[in-house]
Amino acid sequence: MERARITLFDTTLRDGEQSPGCSMNVQEKLRLAQQLDRLGVDVIEGGFPIASDGDFEAVQGISASVRRPVIAALARACFGDIDRAWQAVQRAERPRIHVFLATSDIHLKYKLRISREQCLEQAREAVRHAKALCTDIEFSPEDATRTDTAFLCQVVEAVIAAGATTVNIPDTVGYTMPEEYGQLIRTLGEKVAGIGKVVISTHCHNDLGLAVANSLAGVQAGARQVECTINGIGERAGNASMEEIVMAMRVRPDRYPYETGVASEQIYPSSQMLAEITRIPVQPNKAITGRNAFAHEAGIHQDGVLKNPLTYEIMTPQSVGVPDSRMVLGKHSGRHALLLRCEQLGHHFERRELDEMYRKFVVLADRIKKVQDSHLLELIQDVMAEGKRIPPAAAAIPFTRAAAAAVNGSFPGNALGASSIPVTFGDHHSEQEDYLWGV
Ligand SMILES: [Zn+2]
Repeated sequence: MERARITLFDTTLRDGEQSPGCSMNVQEKLRLAQQLDRLGVDVIEGGFPIASDGDFEAVQGISASVRRPVIAALARACFGDIDRAWQAVQRAERPRIHVFLATSDIHLKYKLRISREQCLEQAREAVRHAKALCTDIEFSPEDATRTDTAFLCQVVEAVIAAGATTVNIPDTVGYTMPEEYGQLIRTLGEKVAGIGKVVISTHCHNDLGLAVANSLAGVQAGARQVECTINGIGERAGNASMEEIVMAMRVRPDRYPYETGVASEQIYPSSQMLAEITRIPVQPNKAITGRNAFAHEAGIHQDGVLKNPLTYEIMTPQSVGVPDSRMVLGKHSGRHALLLRCEQLGHHFERRELDEMYRKFVVLADRIKKVQDSHLLELIQDVMAEGKRIPPAAAAIPFTRAAAAAVNGSFPGNALGASSIPVTFGDHHSEQEDYLWGV
């Protein structure tokens, strides 16, 4: 069967970053954008340039350095926002301006204090202004799922006439149900003049745990772009989870005959990199990327999986890039094995960083015998902080006791304070270096 290609719009760096505690600095956003490129998403929403200088710089930096995907910048429906968004993305290979304006009566009345007529006019004018700057324009009627359907159709028709090329239908508050959302997408497809010329997009929040189900219902009803985030991070309960949407389509093509450009073995490295940057761990039972997603503890399950993995596994851990847990990293592991595992965790080192990483790894492996991925992530953070690829403040967050004890044990006299660790390594740097080059 011919499978329809779905455009994957990743908003980890914009909506995802709006999760409490998930804000990222410019360097971190650049690192993650490069990983999103390796992952194969089609669109990266880099930020909301009018919101802060940091967001502006991040979008500008991503536009200059990540050339394959479309780079989108968010703007409210006003000229100042749109001009700022354009300044940030204009050097991208494929820039997009994403304009949004709320359309539900509750937002119009209490938040924007404008009438439906004013809303319609503002949406039209904003898209017209953006279109004069950039050919690729996305429009989002915020709170679309609580908007009067006839008015929503009117707004969508107006922005298409003004030049929008993608129309996104946000379930901003995570209120809709799969059948209802599918019906809304179908209605737009039937009633709006010119809808055939544009891509319809989903943007679902997870307040009732239905973001992925709603997104899939939207796709079945004709949407061809899905907005999502790694690990499902985002405002409140989060956005639709990228990995769950991708793997639902891959595991059940009989029900969802669609495909994405995602290299699924990059899913786990992306998830780990995000967790490391934000320092928000993935919940253990999170579908696809959680620590327990492929763990089998019950004896009968273990027995079945050993005889044939298909007994209890609907997809292999390798297919989403989960490292082979039978490969144990210890002090006898070589630099190559270490490099490979770090890459599986989403980290690509320069030569000097790998040397530093290997040196710390050997010290740790001497103490704790079996080095887990969580230990490696801490060492990676340490190396990145020393190399100034993340700000020094991040290095001051405490290490686990195992890592701290290992480091202290090897360098007597070092206080058991995390912030002193990089300094201590710095003192010993030169005498260790010759030994490690070329090992
Ligand atoms: Zn959102």
